[in-house]
Amino acid sequence: MIAICNNEGACGIAATGASLARGDLALDAIEAGIRLVEASEEVRTVGRGGWPNLLGEVELDASVMDGTTLRTGSVGSLTGYLHPVSIARQVLERLPHELLVGEGARRFAAEIGAEAGELLMPHARSAWQRWLETEVSAAEQARWPDVPMAELCQQAIDPETGRDTTVFLAQDVEGHIGAGTSTSGWGWKYPGRLGDSPIIGAGSYADSRYGACACTGVGEMSIRAGTSRAVVLYMKMGMSVEEAVHEAVEDMRALKGGLIGRVTIHAIDRQGGHKVVAVNGLPENHYWLWRAGDAAPSSHPCEIIAISDVPAPKPTAHRRYEQMGL
Ligand code: ASP
Repeated sequence: MIAICNNEGACGIAATGASLARGDLALDAIEAGIRLVEASEEVRTVGRGGWPNLLGEVELDASVMDGTTLRTGSVGSLTGYLHPVSIARQVLERLPHELLVGEGARRFAAEIGAEAGELLMPHARSAWQRWLETEVSAAEQARWPDVPMAELCQQAIDPETGRDTTVFLAQDVEGHIGAGTSTSGWGWKYPGRLGDSPIIGAGSYADSRYGACACTGVGEMSIRAGTSRAVVLYMKMGMSVEEAVHEAVEDMRALKGGLIGRVTIHAIDRQGGHKVVAVNGLPENHYWLWRAGDAAPSSHPCEIIAISDVPAPKPTAHRRYEQMGL
């Protein structure tokens, strides 16, 4: 048995480990852990307390994958519900579909009696209001929200502050492997933007015969490289979990243009091994690990690999953080 999650999952990993130790299914253990992260207002990139999009609305993405049946459930651009991971789980359990977005996801959430609630917390509301007043021209504020937004999303909050996700991978006592993700995506994203978190194969993938992978960071990169599916496929083709993750890093070197930044690739294999690499990461990038017999989860540094084509940080980022009181 093993569970890993990214640093954002700190408040949920002990619950996931305890659930696995009781003999629960991997997906149940993952859902229990992620729900705690979604409920925490301290985690500003997942669930309640997450950053809003350009319109000032918190749009959530989440997914689960059962590596034994290869069934998945995802929701994208979901507003107004507190636990998108559980709604994603019910997509898997109840529907013949794998992914619901926007109004359809809301409709399904209401139909199953999912817990509704306000997601935009005061810190995020005032940061967004401040952004609107300082970064959007008076003429556009007067016409808001009927203004072109393509430029605005290019200049929005620095993604390294306004972005993250939680990802959990686990193998249960029966050997079932699962993956789960949940995020508010990028702060100040273009409305309707989906990251990699609800895209199975990009933000996560699980196959109990080989292992599982999940990514955090610039979702646009893992979508383009098909990272999570690639890592599991590389293991199927005979690579170790370390080799598979390193091969996926090589895939990312081939990305040209578009947004290039940090991506952290988390992977486990079916023999109890794991590997976490932060592409373009920083020394503070850590992940959490729990294994059968561990009294408590432990935090470990990610391996850091720099790839080319990393843009310099925006010079104005710090001014924006100050304005937003971050
Ligand atoms: N991967 C997430 C997304 O692209 C964000 C993150 O993990 O930083 O929405």
